Amino acid sequence: MKIAFIGLGNMGGPMAMNLQKAGHTLSAFDLSAEACKKFAAEGLPIATSAAATVEGAEVVISMLPASAHVEGLYLGHDGLLERIAPGTLVIDSSTIAAATSRKVAEAAAKRGIAVIDAPVSGGTGGAMAGTLTFMVGGSEADLELARPVLEKMGANIFHAGDAGAGQTAKICNNMLLGILMIGTSEALALGVANGLDPKVLSEIMRRSSGGNWALEKYNPMPGVMETAPASKNYAGGFGTDLMLKDLGLAQENAAAVRASTPLGGMARNLYAAHSLAGHGALDFSSVLKVFQKS
Ligand code: NAD
Repeated sequence: MKIAFIGLGNMGGPMAMNLQKAGHTLSAFDLSAEACKKFAAEGLPIATSAAATVEGAEVVISMLPASAHVEGLYLGHDGLLERIAPGTLVIDSSTIAAATSRKVAEAAAKRGIAVIDAPVSGGTGGAMAGTLTFMVGGSEADLELARPVLEKMGANIFHAGDAGAGQTAKICNNMLLGILMIGTSEALALGVANGLDPKVLSEIMRRSSGGNWALEKYNPMPGVMETAPASKNYAGGFGTDLMLKDLGLAQENAAAVRASTPLGGMARNLYAAHSLAGHGALDFSSVLKVFQKS
């Protein structure tokens, strides 16, 4: 299949490489010359512009930072929807506002172009290993068209509902993740302040009713889990600023449907303060620092 891939960042680059390894014909582009150079060196064909990637493409995939980038790419001045041939399938895997996904899908439908929102979970490790989880919004038929392509980048594919539903599922999950990391950090810091060994306390809670994903796989306390970002000075992983963006999307979404999300709001404010303290680039589990003596 001829695939246009736009956005070769931490996630998009390895995802595009997995599609190429699976035998698809890629044409890729990123606004950053550095990103293009990096993946050209790995053998990925780089086009001169986003518009050039979509010429003759059967599938177009985008993996961009936020709503404004996706809206600009498809609907902006000289937007890609004007260039993509009717009958093409567009898969946007960026984490953005559900409302933006719906806006792009509606405009595309008027031109005979199918769009699904397919944000992912699984981080950069999952992008490299091809084990991402896709949360898809769009029609069942379009998801089936996309499935063979998604399967080369991910291990789990869920149909969340109509256009925008993938984005809603993604921010519900990340709101819960952001909250549970704060709760886990708070509990561990309390135990340590009382002289408990964080490894022992982590194991007690992991096997008790407080057990959760952070205690299983992503302990925020340095030294407890060798493979977790906490034990690597919070490098790599999922950045505080990306978590902050997702919690902001959750709050926008909640306001639009008048839902009550008090813990999500509090979590957003805690990550915002943590980011303002200079920790925006650290993994989000560094929010533990908020509860520790500096
Ligand atoms: P990134 O910042 O590393 O990469 C985004 C890339 O998009 C950059 O290289 C940028 O130059 C490029 N770009 C921006 N606008 C463009 C345009 N108009 N045309 C071409 N290229 C353009 O971000 P990332 O970590 O790869 O994340 C991408 C998306 O995936 C985000 O929405 C993020 O929230 C989501 N996500 C990230 C992770 C993670 O662990 N990093 C996990 C799940 C989901």
